[in-house]
Amino acid sequence: MTKKYDICIIGGGIQGVGVAQAAAAAGYNVLLLEKIGLACATSSRSSKLIHGGLRYLESGQFSLVAESIYERELLIKNAPELVKRVPFYIPIYKHTSRRSWQVFAGLSLYAILGRLKAEACFRKVPQSKWHQLDGLNENELQAVYQYSDAQTDDVQLTRAVMYSACQLGAELICPAQFELATYQNHQYHVRYSEDGIDTEIVCRVLINATGPWHNEVQKKISPNITVPDIELVQGAHIIINQTPPRGVYYVESPSDRRAVFVMPWYQQTMIGTTETHYEGNPAEINPTEHELDYLQNIADHYFPSYDNNIIDSIAGVRVLPKSNKSMFNRARDTLYISDEMLPGYLGLMGGKLTGYRHTAEKTMHKVKTHLGESKNKMNTRSIHLTPAPNDF
Ligand SMILES: Cc1cc2nc3c(=O)[nH]c(=O)nc-3n(C[C@H](O)[C@H](O)[C@H](O)COP(=O)(O)OP(=O)(O)OC[C@H]3O[C@@H](n4cnc5c(N)ncnc54)[C@H](O)[C@@H]3O)c2cc1C
Repeated sequence: MTKKYDICIIGGGIQGVGVAQAAAAAGYNVLLLEKIGLACATSSRSSKLIHGGLRYLESGQFSLVAESIYERELLIKNAPELVKRVPFYIPIYKHTSRRSWQVFAGLSLYAILGRLKAEACFRKVPQSKWHQLDGLNENELQAVYQYSDAQTDDVQLTRAVMYSACQLGAELICPAQFELATYQNHQYHVRYSEDGIDTEIVCRVLINATGPWHNEVQKKISPNITVPDIELVQGAHIIINQTPPRGVYYVESPSDRRAVFVMPWYQQTMIGTTETHYEGNPAEINPTEHELDYLQNIADHYFPSYDNNIIDSIAGVRVLPKSNKSMFNRARDTLYISDEMLPGYLGLMGGKLTGYRHTAEKTMHKVKTHLGESKNKMNTRSIHLTPAPNDF
C-alpha cells in the first residue's frame, strides 16, 4: 500500500530538519528523506556561529540581523546544552579599514536591534587588559571592542532538531535518496530509493531542502519549472593545534579586508572563512591551497605566537542568488522557490543556520493553503532542544 503523508521533505540539513520540526509541531504527518546522513553537507561545514551577523549591517540587511538576533536568544534559552553565548572581540589597528567610530556605530545599531537588552551591550576592553587576549598582536593596536553572540556544534544542533521532530511524530528515512516526483491529481507521487529498493509515497506538499543540490533535485520533479539562477560559493575553515581562545576574534584579513573569525572549537582553534566561486560537484568540495594559505596568514598576522600547524580543514558551499554584487555583500536570506505549475511545492536554499526556525515557520505559512486543518501540538518557539542520543 502506498503510504500517504501531508508533507515530504527532501534533505536532512538544518533547513530540512527545521521544517520537519515545524510541520510535526503543527500536527502534520511528515516524512523526511536524507540520502547520506543528517548534517552531512553544508550544515556541518559552517562557522558554527549562532549570531545576528554584525557584518550584514554593512550591506544594509537590517531585517535579517534583527531576525537572527531574535532567533539567537530563543536558541540560547531553548537549547542551553547546544548553544552557548560567547564573547566576541574586534581589534582595531592603525591599518584596519573599519575605523573605531564605524565599529562603535555598528555595535550601537546591533545593540538597538537586540532591543538594548543587557546581553546586547558592548564595551571597549581597557588597554591594561589586552595582555589577557590570547596573545593577540598588540603592535599598532588602537582599541578592542567586546560584544556577545553565540556558538554551537552545527551537527549536534541539526541532529537535535530532527530528534525533536521525531518525538513530535515526524518520520525520518536515512539513508534514502529522492529519485523523482510527479504532480498528479492534487498530490505528489514521490519515488525514493533505500538500500537499492525503490519505494513510492504520496504527499500534498513537497519541500526541496537539498541546499547545493536544489536545482539538480528540482529537475527531477515534473512538470518541470524554471530553475533559479544561483551561484555556489565555497567557504573554507582551518583547524590549528592551538589551545582555544577565550572568545571569537573578529579580524580583518590584511590582504583583502574581508572579515574573518578566529574562534574556539573544542580543544582547538578554528579560522574561517573564505569566499571562492565553486562550479564542481558539491559532494567533492575541498579547501584549496590558496584558501589554506590565506587563513594561515591571518592567524600568523594576528596571533604571531600561535602554533599554526593545520590539523584539519573543511569546506562547504553557500547558495547565493546570481548577481553582479561582490560575494561578500550578497544577501544571505533564505531563497524560496515556488511556481503555480507545482502547487504545494517549495524549494529552500541558502539562509542561515541561526534562522532555521524562522525559515521553517515561514515555509509552513507559505504551504498552509495546500494542507488541511491540523491539530497544533506545539509552538516551535517553546520547543526545548536536547542533544540527540548517540543511537539516533
Ligand atoms: C562556509 C559557511 C559558513 C557558514 N557559517 C554560518 C554560521 O556561522 N552561522 C549561520 O547561521 N549560518 C552559517 N552558514 C549558513 C548555513 O550553514 C547554511 O545556510 C545551512 O547549513 C544550509 O543548510 P541546508 O539544509 O539548506 O543544506 P545542507 O546542509 O547542504 O543539506 C542538504 C541535504 O540534502 C541532502 N540531499 C541532497 N540531495 C538529496 C536527495 N536526492 N535525496 C535525499 N537527500 C538529498 C544532502 O545529503 C544534505 O544533507 C554558513 C555557510 C557556509 C557555506
